[in-house]
Parts: sequence; C-alpha cells; structure tokens
Amino acid sequence: MPEKVVNAILGNSFARSGGAGNAARVRLFDTLTRKVVPLEPVDGKSFRFYCCGPTVYGPSHIGNFRTFVVQDVLRRVLELGGMKTKHVRNITDVDDKTIRDSVAAGRTLSDFTAQWRDKFHEDCESLNCLKPHIEPSAVEHVPEQITMIAELVEKGHAYASDDGSVYFKISSFADYGKLSRLDTRELDLGKTQNERANSDEYEKDNVADFVLWKARRDEDGGNFWESPWGQGRPGWHLECSAMILKYLGKTFDLHSGGEDLVFPHHENELAQSKCSCGGEFARHWFHSTHLLVNGKKMAKSSGTLYTLGDLVEEGWSAMEVRYVLIGANYRKQMNFTMESLHAAREALGKLAKAAAGQSAPGYRELAKGGDLGVFAGAFEKLNDDLNTAAALGELFGNLKKASSEADWRGFFTILAALGLVLPEPEGIEVPDDIIGLAKLRWEARQAKDWEASDRYRDELAQKGWVVKDGREGYEVVPS
Ligand code: AMP
Ligand code: ZN
Repeated sequence: MPEKVVNAILGNSFARSGGAGNAARVRLFDTLTRKVVPLEPVDGKSFRFYCCGPTVYGPSHIGNFRTFVVQDVLRRVLELGGMKTKHVRNITDVDDKTIRDSVAAGRTLSDFTAQWRDKFHEDCESLNCLKPHIEPSAVEHVPEQITMIAELVEKGHAYASDDGSVYFKISSFADYGKLSRLDTRELDLGKTQNERANSDEYEKDNVADFVLWKARRDEDGGNFWESPWGQGRPGWHLECSAMILKYLGKTFDLHSGGEDLVFPHHENELAQSKCSCGGEFARHWFHSTHLLVNGKKMAKSSGTLYTLGDLVEEGWSAMEVRYVLIGANYRKQMNFTMESLHAAREALGKLAKAAAGQSAPGYRELAKGGDLGVFAGAFEKLNDDLNTAAALGELFGNLKKASSEADWRGFFTILAALGLVLPEPEGIEVPDDIIGLAKLRWEARQAKDWEASDRYRDELAQKGWVVKDGREGYEVVPS
C-alpha cells in the first residue's frame, strides 16, 4: 500500500484549553482503585502525565509499541476534547541490560544507547505518535537520583550495605504492595527485611528490599558515578521517581506503562517518591495489557518477536501496524496475527475510499471542538475508558451516513484521535459536480478568461480538489 497520504492529520503540537472541546470527559480504569473514574487535571489547567519510556538496548518490539500507541491515543483524546496536556516520557539509558549489551558490543554506553534511542524515535514517527513535551534520560539525571537516595537514607527509608550499595527498606512504607495487591503472604515484611534484590527486575514471589544505588562491579566497565556511598550507579526504579519530581512535582495526574510495570517498577517508584518527598504521587495509574503473538508471549526463539522494521520489510505499512495495535481495547488481551494485518489493510482502504475528496482539518483546528455529527458517538466511546475497538465499530457503522460538514469533521476527529493517516485510495471516483467544475475551468482557460478560471480553481479547492494541468489536458485529484 502506498504510504502517500491523502489526509495528513499529523500534529505534533498540543492543544490549548479554551476551545469548545468535544465534551471530553475521559473516564479511565485506575489500577490502584480498580475503578473507572473521570480524569481531571489536579491544577485545573493541564493534564500532566508520565509514561515509562523505552529501555534503549535494541529495537522496541510491537508489544512495546502497543503500550506507546495506547498512551498516544489517550493524549490525543484528551487534547481533541479541549484539554491541554503535558506529556513526559523518559529514556532508560542506564540499567542492567544497557550496560551488559554495550560492554558486550565494545561500545560506550552513550554511543550504544543513542543508536537505539534514535531508532525508537524513527519508529514513533512512522507510527504517528506525538512527541512527548519532555523526554528526559536517566543518565542526564544522576545527580537528582543521588539527592533522592540521600533523602531516603536520612529519613530512615533506605540503608547502605557493606558493599556500598543502598537499599530501600520496604518495611518502612506501610502501603508497600497496595498498587500491585501483594497479599500478606507474599509481603511478610519481617522476613523480607533482610532479603535484598540487586537486579533491576524480579518477580512477585521475590519481594525484597530493592536496590537504589548499585556499588560498582567489574562487569559495569567504565559505567559508574561518584556518590556519598562510593562509586556505582542508580538502580533502575529510581530514575522515574527523580525525573517525575523534577518535571511534574510531588503530585501529578497520571502514570502509565505496560502491565508488567505494575510490579515491581511502579510499586517501587511509589514507595520511593512518597517516602522521599511526600505528595500524592500519581493520582491515576494507567496500564495496558500485553500484546501476544499467535496467542503466546512474544519470543525470539519461536520467531514471533516482531519489530516495526520486521513488518515493514514484509511489506506492511506502519499505519497498518498502528491500526492493529488500536484494534482492541487496551484492557483486553491483544493477539497479533498476520490476519489482523490483512484486516487492517482492508479497513484503512475502506476508510480512504469513503473519505476520498474530503479534506481533513488540521489537528489544532479539530482540537477546537465542535459538532461531530454522526460520529459524536464514536468519540464518546473513546471517552469511555478509551474503547478504541468500539470507536472503530461506530466509525464504520456510520460511514454511509456521513454527508454534512459536521459529519466529516467528526470523521476526521476520530481518525486524529486514533492517530490514523489514510492511504491513497485506489481508483478514486470523482464526483460529477467536481468533473463539471474542472471542465468549466478548463474552458475558461482555453478562452484566456483567467479570472473565471481562478474562481473555479478556488471553488474546487474549497471542496477538497486540485486540478493538475498537463500538456494533454488536466487531471483532478483530492487535495
Ligand atoms: P521496555 O522498553 O522494556 O522498558 O518497555 C517499554 C514499555 O513497553 C513498557 O511500558 C512495558 O510495560 C511495555 N511492554 C513490554 N512488553 C510489552 C508487550 N508484550 N505488550 C505491551 N506492552 C509491553
Ligand atoms: Zn518508570
């Protein structure tokens, strides 16, 4: 399918509040309270949210992108509903995996991670994800992390071990385990007090004091920083807490990631942040369910770990992949198959055909709000716990009814909310009135009546068409 787009609805700027809005009242499931609740900015002005970003030690896979695309849809629905947003997403460029693989590759950590960070950005752009407003990296925020550890030690929530590592004492935080619902059996604080987890990732049955500062080890190579506890590097969980404090403060609106981040990563972030600086931390927790391939966890060994590049190489477009990723509600298990890509191709083609000749208003224009005509219901589905599957159902269900200006505005608002850019439709049918106008323009030109010819050209442009003159005659195409 050609990547040439008819309706460019890319928009990388964020909407200012003050527009009429599309009556956006986004309601979303909160992992902590297990309830669907309305989203309101705590400062009454802009919705400030944080997404845990990629670990840049290789290309992100389509599972990662399910999470990033869902977060992008949330932002778009908020903005198109007239809400201003502030979106912060970090880059994890120092952890066990980035160090391990950069050392193995014989490259510096920064050189190694920069390559994968750039690849991530490239993929995000292909998938039409809006750029976060701030994208801080862990390596650039080591001093902030050291300050946070010092505060935790001072307040009695952390302690240094003999080897110069520093651990968070989970028994010092009464709410530890609430977010991920660790039951009391798993959370035997008396037992775990002396057990420690030094690796960045571990399972629920290994609940333990977790590492905030890792003492320097031989295998870290040259990747270490000076600290009050000696040379070493921050543990993975800490970076987000430090960067959130810096860019969003003690209390912010929403925190997000894939479901695997609930424990231990988000549980640990919550503990560190609350114990070091108080505040409410995240007022809402937004997690998306993992993507499976052919019904199973993605695995390199079974050839089911796909990157966007793998699929593009097989002839699929990034938009087709995006369509699949938004095809199921974010709380439902998503099963990625080749059939789903075929279906996406067909669906996008159908939408492109239906919208041929219509011109899409820009993202900012759509964010001013207004009547969405027959597609108002589709936007409501998005407001209702980001039900992308139901919104697509409404979009197709009302396609034949679309006729008024409001209807088309509604249509393009839904596409913009889903971040879909339509392909060039195959075999465009040019409506009779457009053919008539183009003919009148051509006749005016033959008669050298430039004024009339310009008038017809403008009229065509208003209707979303342009005339291309050639030696043999003229051609009329959607603008
Ligand atoms: P990572 O690059 O591993 O730090 O992960 C980046 C994001 O992708 C995190 O929010 C993860 O929770 C998420 N993620 C990882 N695997 C999957 C998957 N199979 N499906 C959906 N999201 C995932
Ligand atoms: Zn994080």
